[in-house]
Amino acid sequence: MGAPREVPWVVIGGGIAGLEAARLLGISEPGGVLLEATDRFGGIVRSDTWRGAVLDVGPDGWVAAKPQMRALCIELGLGAEVVEPQPAAKKLLARVRNGLEPMPRGLKLTIPTTARAALGIAARDKGMARRVLLEPLVTRKNWGDSHTDESIGDFLRRRMGARWAREVSLPILAGIHSGDPDELSVRAAFPQFVEAEAAGRSLLGQAVARRRAGEAGTFLSLRGGLGQLVNALVEAAAAAGDLRLNDPVRGVEGAGAGRARVELLSGEILDTSRVVVATGPRVGAQLLGAGAPALAAKLEEIPHGSAHVVIYALAEKHVAHTLDASGFIAIDRRAGGVVAASFLSSKWPGRKPEGFVFVRAFLASGTHFDANAATDAELAARGLEELTPLLGLSGNPEKDWVRRFPRATPQPVVGHIARMYSARALQDQHPWLALVGAGYSGVGLGDALRSVHEGLARWGGPPFPSIHVAFR
Ligand SMILES: Cc1cc2nc3c(=O)[nH]c(=O)nc-3n(C[C@H](O)[C@H](O)[C@H](O)COP(=O)(O)OP(=O)(O)OC[C@H]3O[C@@H](n4cnc5c(N)ncnc54)[C@H](O)[C@@H]3O)c2cc1C
Repeated sequence: MGAPREVPWVVIGGGIAGLEAARLLGISEPGGVLLEATDRFGGIVRSDTWRGAVLDVGPDGWVAAKPQMRALCIELGLGAEVVEPQPAAKKLLARVRNGLEPMPRGLKLTIPTTARAALGIAARDKGMARRVLLEPLVTRKNWGDSHTDESIGDFLRRRMGARWAREVSLPILAGIHSGDPDELSVRAAFPQFVEAEAAGRSLLGQAVARRRAGEAGTFLSLRGGLGQLVNALVEAAAAAGDLRLNDPVRGVEGAGAGRARVELLSGEILDTSRVVVATGPRVGAQLLGAGAPALAAKLEEIPHGSAHVVIYALAEKHVAHTLDASGFIAIDRRAGGVVAASFLSSKWPGRKPEGFVFVRAFLASGTHFDANAATDAELAARGLEELTPLLGLSGNPEKDWVRRFPRATPQPVVGHIARMYSARALQDQHPWLALVGAGYSGVGLGDALRSVHEGLARWGGPPFPSIHVAFR
């Protein structure tokens, strides 16, 4: 092992957050190092192609209301590549028993925004519509200090009524987090709901105001898949520092005088005054176990969920369903199996291979299926078995892809905000450290980017371009 090499900064993790951190750090101080454990950049984000069509196997879009992703795309010259979902994909279906039914339309974060949406609910069930429309009159919770919390399940049942919560809001909102609605924190996962109630406003009023303010449609993506952003980020960040693949980090420790030592699995040691840990909280806890044990213990308290994805390329002639929606979501997830599906080739423009369609199934564990224990072949078979009656499939898929994301989804459970306050205080004891990426303050791509901007701000320096674009 040689002497430690001094570098201006080290970023650990080459997902979206790590790449953006390296790009920004390199603007003010080139010459740092980004270390990625695997043989590719992008982390959870990954685009493949099949027969000329793009296929996002991880995330396939971002929440439009969060400005950071679009701002970054514009900054990297990809502004013209940002695409909206195709018109048919504005519809979402619900899996109810063994059939698919349309979900109510005109919703923002599952809250109705138009009279038409309310009428749609009334056509489904008058009692449910009456209860939804009474939401502005519901007694408000006193949100007290910033540590007061409630589960998404309790919050939405209280405000929107049990049926709307169970049949519409919770399957979608808990599905976003692959989590349990009775464990997820409304304050951490959907802070806008808490802001509305704390300010004495109704959820219906807030949703209508957002629609009137012209808030962009629900999701956006890139024409060439989200891998396009990864490629652009790699190109921009490579100008800023040394981006290394297949170079995992073993651990990080303070070295005194505001400096840290980053130990690589290869035995190399880097000495620096700025370490960005962009691996997600679970791996972050492992890396910091020896150097910052109290912080590591705090991060270990964050539970993580797993995602199991199977994408099928199906001959169009073998699919009876028109796939005129973004996909479906199961109302009752308790049994496990296919809990959601995206009709990827219907959802985004230009993503349909000639003569074929892409359907992506999300499988989860439940009382009748253990997704963790299933082999790849079993996952693919189970998905196909469940999709066959739902989509009217005849004939086998031309190809399938199984992708597993074990313990990759941090769960912002009740108490998460208080836990993060403690984690931030512990992080502040290490002036060389910034924890960034998804899982600390939000779990989506936009949240991951925002955490980079906030995390790097602790070192001051020149303003970061993305922040200006994002909040102009
Ligand atoms: C199936 C799935 C679908 C999703 N869909 C969406 C969506 O549609 N929209 C949305 O906004 N969000 C979505 N998300 C969430 C989104 O993927 C994350 O918010 C985002 O990708 C997190 O990026 P990151 O850079 O923080 O972490 P990651 O992408 O997890 O990157 C962390 C990187 O660190 C590397 N690493 C780990 N250990 C080490 C080590 N010891 N040394 C060096 N490197 C290491 C990893 O290999 C990885 O490349 C989805 C997540 C999943 C799992």
